[in-house]
Amino acid sequence: MARLEIKDLHVEVEDKDKKSRKKILKGVNLSLKTGEIHAIMGPNGTGKSTLSETIMGNPRYHVTQGDILLNNESIVEMPVDERARKGLFLAMQYPAEVPGVTNAEFLRAAINARRPKDDPISVMTFLNELDKNLDLLDMNEAMTERYLNEGFSGGEKKRNEILQMLMIKPSFGILDEIDSGLDIDALRVVSRGVNAMRGDNFGALMITHYQRLLDYIVPDVVHVMMDGRVVKDGGPDLAKKLEQEGYAGLRDELGLDI
Ligand code: ADP
Ligand code: MG
Ligand code: MG
Repeated sequence: MARLEIKDLHVEVEDKDKKSRKKILKGVNLSLKTGEIHAIMGPNGTGKSTLSETIMGNPRYHVTQGDILLNNESIVEMPVDERARKGLFLAMQYPAEVPGVTNAEFLRAAINARRPKDDPISVMTFLNELDKNLDLLDMNEAMTERYLNEGFSGGEKKRNEILQMLMIKPSFGILDEIDSGLDIDALRVVSRGVNAMRGDNFGALMITHYQRLLDYIVPDVVHVMMDGRVVKDGGPDLAKKLEQEGYAGLRDELGLDI
């Protein structure tokens, strides 16, 4: 079993010009084990993407207090690739386009980066797994020979993020709004991919605005973030309650003035 712990995390983000910093996360606490799927909900601008970028190690996000532990080891000083090797994966809200690298090349490199240098994945195994996962996600084989995300539609990018996750098999997947911009069919397909990962060796932190996704991927735990903090934890019912009462209802309940 693997464990990801976020302890009293405070994060400041750097402006594009690197001249000023803004305080975004103000003491986030959260603990996740493999075998569990957690959802994070919360209004726009609350720091959900900041949390995911910080867990993965985007250098623009500065941890000023607190810690992130993966199996009791602090990862806040580790570069992104080392975190990936240790089993973290981020499906980004806005996946980047990488011209010049095909999807298939990227996948093999990412898989091999997590294996011993003298034991790369065999071509047969790679192609078999790719085939199986393309089927699962209703994706066309031609997608794998295209440059990574280049010219992909919003929905294709999201599917492709899930394809990467299925192929790389991380211990923890952080999924930032994988449901945004998806029609209902694409949502079903993406959910099928995440549900296929479910099991003792996988945990997920699933960020979403909408309860709808949680009908397809039923979370074990729901966290609500507001103003840079987790303000409430609960089960799947909490997401349903939020859908009905909105964040204003929760603000009143908690006596929050934000
Ligand atoms: P959410 O994902 O919950 O909508 P974000 O983490 O994207 O929230 O953003 C939280 C706040 O931090 C917002 O006010 C946003 O404008 C700001 N922010 C996030 N990332 C950056 C960045 N790279 N540069 C400047 N401001 C940022
Ligand atoms: Mg947002
Ligand atoms: Mg976001």
